[in-house]
Amino acid sequence: MKELILIKYGEIILKGLNRHIFEDKLIANIQKAVGDDARIYKSLATIYAEPREGADTDELIKKIGRVFGIVWIVRAGVCGKELSEISEAVNAYLKDTLSSAKTFKVETKRADKRYPLKSPEVSREVGGTVLSAFPHLKVDVKNPEVQVNVEIRDTAAYVYADRIPGRGGMPTGTSGKAMLLLSGGIDSPVAGYMIAKRGAVLEGIHFFSHPFTSEMAKQKVLDLAKIVSGYCGKMRVHIVPFTQPQLDMRDKCPAEHLTLLMRRMMMMISCEIAKREGAICLVTGESLGQVASQTMEAIAVTDNASDMPCFRPLIGMDKEDIVKIARDIGTYETSILPYEDCCTIFVPKHPTTRPQLEKILQSEKLLDVETLVREAVEGTETVEIG
Ligand code: ATP
Ligand code: MG
Repeated sequence: MKELILIKYGEIILKGLNRHIFEDKLIANIQKAVGDDARIYKSLATIYAEPREGADTDELIKKIGRVFGIVWIVRAGVCGKELSEISEAVNAYLKDTLSSAKTFKVETKRADKRYPLKSPEVSREVGGTVLSAFPHLKVDVKNPEVQVNVEIRDTAAYVYADRIPGRGGMPTGTSGKAMLLLSGGIDSPVAGYMIAKRGAVLEGIHFFSHPFTSEMAKQKVLDLAKIVSGYCGKMRVHIVPFTQPQLDMRDKCPAEHLTLLMRRMMMMISCEIAKREGAICLVTGESLGQVASQTMEAIAVTDNASDMPCFRPLIGMDKEDIVKIARDIGTYETSILPYEDCCTIFVPKHPTTRPQLEKILQSEKLLDVETLVREAVEGTETVEIG
C-alpha cells in the first residue's frame, strides 16, 4: 500500500494573516532537511511528505522530527475514500498493531466536509469491520490501547495508528537572528537550541584564548554547533581571539574582579559582532545562582556592558533539567569532554559574588577597553557549520 508522511503543525495556525508565511517557511525547512528524498507539499492545513522511490522512511521521519514548528508526525497508509476501501486499508495496513492489541477505537476526521457520511458513522462502520477481522479485540472508547485514525481528505483517505511527537516551536527563520555566546559547556548549546526553537536563526560566538585553550577545545565548540545546526540549519560561528584581553586583565586588575571583567568584555565584543552581522539579541547559557558569576548582582553587572537585549533562556532552570535537554538534543556527550574553556583560566580563588558595579567599572578603567574590543573584533574568524 502507498505510504505517506503527514505532518501536523499547531501554534503557527494561530498567526492569522501571517499564517502562510509561517507555513511556507516550515515547508521550505522540511524540504531542506530531507533534501530530494521526499517531495513536500501542503493541503488543507496538513503538510505531506511523499518519499522518493526507495527512500528510507524511518530516516526521513527522524530528519523531519528535528525541524521546529511540527506538533506531530504520522506514517499513514493511503487509500480510496469509499468506506470499503478505508476498512480494507485499516485491516491490512494496521494488521500488526491490531493483532497485538487488546482494545481499540476508531477516530475519524473529515477534512472533506462534502463526504456523504459523518465522522462518527465512518468510525462505527470501520470499527465493525475491525471487530470482524480481529475477533479478539474489544472496543474501548475511553482508554484504548490503539487508536485507529481515519482522515478523509481532498483526494484520498489516510489511515494510521501512532503519532510521533514533533519538537514543537516555530519554524526557523520566523524570528530574526540571535547571536549565541557558545562555550564548550553543557548550558550554552541548550540555550541556543531553545532560542532557535522559537524561530530564531542562530549564529555563534566563541572566545578562544590560544595557547591557554587548545585547538581541541575549539573543535569541541564547532562540534557542538554542528549538532545544534541539525535542528536549525546552517550556522556561522565567529571565533574571537581573547588572549590579549585576558592577559591585560590578569596583569592590571584586581584578581577578584577578573571573572566579571571577562564577562563584561565578552558582552561588549559580542554586541559589536552581533550588530555587524545583523543580529537583534545576544543569548547566553546563564542560570540564576549556578556559579559566582551568575548571582543576580553579577548578572546585572554583566548585563550593564551590553547595549542590546540579552536572552537567557535557562535563567530559571535547574541543572538537572538542562542536562535532560542536552541529552535529548545530543549535545551532552560532547559537552562533557574535558577540555578547558577560557573561563577556567586565571579564575580567581575568591570571586566576588555580590559585586558592586562602581567597583568593577573602576577596575575596568585600568584597561584600554576600546582597543581591546576593536582588536578582538578585527581578529575574529568565521567558520560555516552545517
Ligand atoms: P556553559 O555550560 O554554557 O559553558 P557555564 O555554566 O559553564 O555555561 P560560564 O562559564 O560562567 O557558565 O558561562 C556563562 C555563559 O557565558 C555561557 O553559557 C556562555 O553563553 C558564555 N560563555 C562562557 N564562556 C564562553 C566562551 N569561551 N565563548 C563564548 N561564550 C562563552
Ligand atoms: Mg562554561
